[in-house]
Amino acid sequence: AAAGDENDVVVIGGGPGGYVAAIKAAQLGLKTTCIEKRGTLGGTCLNVGCIPSKALLHSSHMYHEAKHAFPHHGVQFSDLKIDLPAMMAQKDKAVSGLTRGIEGLFKKNKVTYVKGYGKFVSPSEVSVDTLDGGSTVVKGKHIIIATGSDVKSLPGVTIDEKKIVSSTGALALPEIPKKLVVIGAGYIGLEMGSVWGRLGSEVTVVEFAPDIVPTMDGEVRKQFQRMLEKQKMKFMLKTKVVGVDTSGEGVKLTIEPAAGGEQSTLEADVVLVSAGRVPFTDGLGLEKLGVETDKIGRITVDKKFMTNVSGVYAIGDVIPGPMLAHKAEEDGVACVEFIAGKEGHVDYDLVPGVVYTHPEVASVGKTEEQVKATGVAYRVGKFPFMANSRAKAIDDADGIVKILAEKETDKVLGVHIMSPNAGELIHEAVLALQYGASSEDIARTCHAHPTMSEAVKEAAMATYDKPIHI
Ligand code: FAD
Repeated sequence: AAAGDENDVVVIGGGPGGYVAAIKAAQLGLKTTCIEKRGTLGGTCLNVGCIPSKALLHSSHMYHEAKHAFPHHGVQFSDLKIDLPAMMAQKDKAVSGLTRGIEGLFKKNKVTYVKGYGKFVSPSEVSVDTLDGGSTVVKGKHIIIATGSDVKSLPGVTIDEKKIVSSTGALALPEIPKKLVVIGAGYIGLEMGSVWGRLGSEVTVVEFAPDIVPTMDGEVRKQFQRMLEKQKMKFMLKTKVVGVDTSGEGVKLTIEPAAGGEQSTLEADVVLVSAGRVPFTDGLGLEKLGVETDKIGRITVDKKFMTNVSGVYAIGDVIPGPMLAHKAEEDGVACVEFIAGKEGHVDYDLVPGVVYTHPEVASVGKTEEQVKATGVAYRVGKFPFMANSRAKAIDDADGIVKILAEKETDKVLGVHIMSPNAGELIHEAVLALQYGASSEDIARTCHAHPTMSEAVKEAAMATYDKPIHI
């Protein structure tokens, strides 16, 4: 379809929220156009987020394993080196392959792809300054805003993507910094800190809050922090950055206790600012349309993802909820199903969260703190990977499975896993919670031996009864 023809659905933004919504809409028989300003599809996630970070996490893990783990397995070699340009090239290849793949999916599903910056002219018209220098107007009965999020800046800290970088700069450093300071102990800071730490940087994480990754179960978080400290990551919690001086060769940071007090300095070659992300709606013309946003700029929507302006919807990082790619995708599918007159559904209590360090930390449902706060009587079942045969066989046994279940009914309320590949292991727990399973349901499900997943089964046994192997 030509961009000027009327569409059933127009999606602004081609990230995991937008591109998935566009494909789903086309699959439901709706005439669909997706507008993306970046020049490539996949949004933050594919271009400068999930995918390149996981590529570098894997490459740096391989190096780290070669250096520290191979000798224990009797694999010897000499002359281990890092070829950083080659590492970056493999990451770039993964990204470009996947972003082109989505273009292919657009063609296959007959989604029209307009490359350019979209802004609202009316609730059913979007004008686009196209990347080739022209302009066009795209019309649609339903318009979905999927413009995502951007790096949150810190007052007084200017990101130059050289010495002071955002996650985007941290994914493409030209050399390994001797000293890296990470501001913000959320999952992005810890993942990128892990990448460069494994490659040889001295990493210090400065965090204003008293804890790292605030959404994590407290007990798991403590063990996780110890694990990262074993990997030589340093933490300065309850600390704030009050000044940054880049006039010399490196960066001098002035820090002070979060509660106020004596200042001190911290030196770095590179500083990564990872203090959160903010919804991105610049230049979209929301004010003109009268689309409501909340105090922190997120677009407010109803249960069907519609904004206060009829026919205009919003999904993904630009609306409230966890800023995660899989959540954006779920939003996208449900939003389009509502538009098509079907039922859409997203269970926001069951969006899994994963930190892709080593070990990984994955969770779904409630933390122990959250369960306590509800006042319901509960049981906890735990199983350490030290007692899991597969983890011992591969000599990678740091970690734990923790299951929380309602005392009276044994219904599983939350599952927290720290282990290699926890991000894969978590999904049986997600399904369990989705189906309202009890810990006994998990425990009585046959799990293959020897697998890491057996630790989930044993933790479930420990929740309502006793585990076998500890
Ligand atoms: P985005 O992916 O931000 O996409 C929005 C798109 O809209 C962008 O491409 C933008 O160019 C385009 N756009 C904006 N305005 C306009 C306009 N006016 N006209 C045209 N186009 C426009 N999440 C996970 O689930 N797992 C992870 O492992 C993970 N790792 C991450 C690592 C990093 C370093 C970062 C930064 C993020 C990570 N995330 C991860 C978060 C994830 O990237 C986001 O939650 C996800 O991309 C949100 O999808 P979205 O479609 O809402 O927005």
